[in-house]
Amino acid sequence: ALFNSCDKTGTNTSKKSAMQDDAIEQKVDSVLALMNLKEKIGQMVQYSASWDVTGPASAEGDKFKEEKLKKGEVGSMLNVTSVEAVRNAQKLVMENSRLKIPLIFAYDVIHGYKTIFPIPLGESASWDLDIIEKSARIAAKETSAAGMQWTFAPMIDISRDARWGRIMEGSGEDTYLGSKIGVARIKGFQGDDLSKNNTIAACAKHFAGYGFGEAGRDYNTVNIGEHELHNVILPPFKAAAEAGVATFMNAFNEIDGIPATGSKVLQRDLLKGEWGWNGFIVSDWGSIGEMIAHGFAKDKKHAAEIALNAGSDMDMESYAYEAELEKLIEENKVKLSDIDDAVKRILRLKFQLGLFDDPYKYCDEEREKNEIYTKEHLEIARDVAKRSIVLLKNDTVKKSTLLPLSKDINSIAVIGPLADDKDTPLGNWRAHGEYNSAISLLEGVKAAVGNSTKIYYEKGVELTSKTVEPGENQFLHHIEYNTTDRSGIAAAVNAAKKAEVVLLAIGENAYQTGEGRSQTNIGFIGLQQELLEAVYAVNKNIVIVLMNGRPMDIAWAAEHVPSILECWHLGSQSGYAISDVLFGDYNPSGKLPVSFPYNVGQEPLYYNQKNTGRPMSTQVTYSGYNDAPKEALFPFGYGLSYTNFTYSKLSLDKSEMDKGGEIKVSVNVTNNGSRDGEEVVQLYIRDLVGSLTRPIKELKGFNKVMIKAGETKTINFTINAETLQFYTVNKKWEVESGEFNVWVGGSSTTNNMAKFTVN
Ligand code: BGC
Repeated sequence: ALFNSCDKTGTNTSKKSAMQDDAIEQKVDSVLALMNLKEKIGQMVQYSASWDVTGPASAEGDKFKEEKLKKGEVGSMLNVTSVEAVRNAQKLVMENSRLKIPLIFAYDVIHGYKTIFPIPLGESASWDLDIIEKSARIAAKETSAAGMQWTFAPMIDISRDARWGRIMEGSGEDTYLGSKIGVARIKGFQGDDLSKNNTIAACAKHFAGYGFGEAGRDYNTVNIGEHELHNVILPPFKAAAEAGVATFMNAFNEIDGIPATGSKVLQRDLLKGEWGWNGFIVSDWGSIGEMIAHGFAKDKKHAAEIALNAGSDMDMESYAYEAELEKLIEENKVKLSDIDDAVKRILRLKFQLGLFDDPYKYCDEEREKNEIYTKEHLEIARDVAKRSIVLLKNDTVKKSTLLPLSKDINSIAVIGPLADDKDTPLGNWRAHGEYNSAISLLEGVKAAVGNSTKIYYEKGVELTSKTVEPGENQFLHHIEYNTTDRSGIAAAVNAAKKAEVVLLAIGENAYQTGEGRSQTNIGFIGLQQELLEAVYAVNKNIVIVLMNGRPMDIAWAAEHVPSILECWHLGSQSGYAISDVLFGDYNPSGKLPVSFPYNVGQEPLYYNQKNTGRPMSTQVTYSGYNDAPKEALFPFGYGLSYTNFTYSKLSLDKSEMDKGGEIKVSVNVTNNGSRDGEEVVQLYIRDLVGSLTRPIKELKGFNKVMIKAGETKTINFTINAETLQFYTVNKKWEVESGEFNVWVGGSSTTNNMAKFTVN
């Protein structure tokens, strides 16, 4: 009776949910009162399934884990990924332990469970919060249908460094966009009621600074000033906390000398203290133990002490809490009240999810069979994918642009190592996305054109000579590139000669980005550039279909090739979605969420930089490069359409405001072309003089709107304290008086500007 649920009607009135919260708090307290220390510490332990949990463990280490589960000394498992396995693991606890506190099951569902959506960076290029929320919603439906109720997503680390492999997992370089997208994903995963059996707990990660590793090396040292941390990195986390994200994950990196996992300032003081957030923090994989390698803890016991005191609630795979916390209590090095607090946070989520009512409520074989990888989900994945594509270049060749292509075109050469690759579009972190299950570009093109179109397919070159094979642990396998085998180039050149247009699919293999996949070469690795130039020599009508997980150095291509379509790793329906855009069934509407450099030497590169004292190139010694522009090749916010948008009549309802007041901004956007299209209207500001130096431009609003051919729409924004405030020299979020610029346009380079003053 103790564990019986309160009234879970799912109504949203705040009175009711306050009552539900109270009821849950009472239950949490009453369970806590029954627990002994070992059981409490057990809740703070998370194991990965190192064996196939559909059967009994056999290896020694696995048997150890199994015994711990039976004793009720484990709170959570990750990587138990089917109804049968979840049921079995849950049974170990429910049928053997004293208190029968259900496990919570976690998994990295980053861009879909089995129906794979575009990689998060790609999806972010849609700037479409509704579809981003929808894709997370479907991921939650499928994950929960497979028995789990917690995903380690979204990753909301801002990153400005294309070398970093995990840039693919986030929403790019911008804090404002990243905050909005993070919240949309959280809403998608968690829905409006965590107690439903098709919503799952989300996890805001990695707290904090992980995207700022020096030189783009994964796990690397982060050096960032306090103001920059608050202004650039933390806002998406604050937004996530405010949106009610159930969990946070801390991070592998140190930040200003303190490993994030051991940072009391970030976890206990800021997140749980100042922000008043009541979820729990899971460590990153082994990150408590890694504080030893950082030279921050002398041994595992010390590491456990630091982590707990800093506010890390759950130990993922360090085995530090389970081994050391009891001793640390005896020695008075950690407080029982901190352990109680951690356990309460974990139990709270288990109650919210309804696991105490029915530990098997997500275990439904029928759902697992019928609600995963459905036709409906695949259709939505196609829709999301096409909206994530960015048209980077579409020059006029002989009076018209190459794109969109006519479906009656006589002949197309589909060339490149990724042209018929059915695996790469799934990208990294594809959860249960099945090997080779994506629709390739070639398949998409074949399905789009009529019978009379001749298609010449040639791979040209292999991109890799060794990649991650199905079933292989990607962390243990490097990929190798083909740098010697040119045997297919001649045939590709021949195909290009015969065809009206060449679609050249090049870029990056699925495993070139992701965790531990930093690179210094962000160009066309292997023999791809050679293939490109060989094809270009015989046919200049090339559309590059770029598939990649990071901003790439594509400067040569951008200078020579008439059309470039940024297609990321678009997921299960990749080839169909790309064809929707290639053949004009969908007018591309994506905008870059990251800057593309001229070359890797510019990294880290981002639009909202600050000025130096010598920003201009009017003198020999200025803050740029002697051998490259300092600006981006393709800037943040940029993306073309098959139609043309022009901006006019940027106007403010007044030119002055008080700090607490507001200004209404409006602009007319006209579709001057002959096709309907969507435009992402972007608002940027600049605070001209601050108590701290301010970026030269900052995104502060956007609105994606459909505008019919020939139509003009008036788009409105409001500027208020929220738009203008920043973490000032007083270490507070404040609006400062002074002059501001405001721009509204279709890219971060817009110069459609007005001015106002804040008094
Ligand atoms: C990653 C996390 C991930 C965890 C569990 C770690 O290596 O950094 O993002 O959630 O593994 O798979």
